[in-house]
Amino acid sequence: MENKIKNQNILSQISNIVPKYCDKCGKKYSHTDLDLIEQTDNRLVCKLSCNNCRNIYILQIHKDMDGNLSAKRTNIKQELVDEQEIKKFEEMEAIDLDEVLDVYIVLEKIKDVHELLSLIDIK
Ligand SMILES: [Zn+2]
Repeated sequence: MENKIKNQNILSQISNIVPKYCDKCGKKYSHTDLDLIEQTDNRLVCKLSCNNCRNIYILQIHKDMDGNLSAKRTNIKQELVDEQEIKKFEEMEAIDLDEVLDVYIVLEKIKDVHELLSLIDIK
């Protein structure tokens, strides 16, 4: 029950954080442009989509111990928007530079697509 109250607090406070206008085309957002994707005690993930130019942002809103809200806004491409996909990746750790280099080194040695596919463990 307590969690639910906290969530309602977050929901009532995010109107101060969510942008009012699309920064691509300038159209005013309406409340129907905001979709709630995921919600925990102190965190909300929302999708904000402009119904005019189809620009889409993912908003990650975090509430700290003192009740202060902070938001991270990520612009995503229309064709990547799939809520299951967003949920899958939003909890993942960021990829660090060493991991990128490891992949680069492996890819450099691969001669063709068949060799690449043989290395991928498809589940
Ligand atoms: Zn727009």
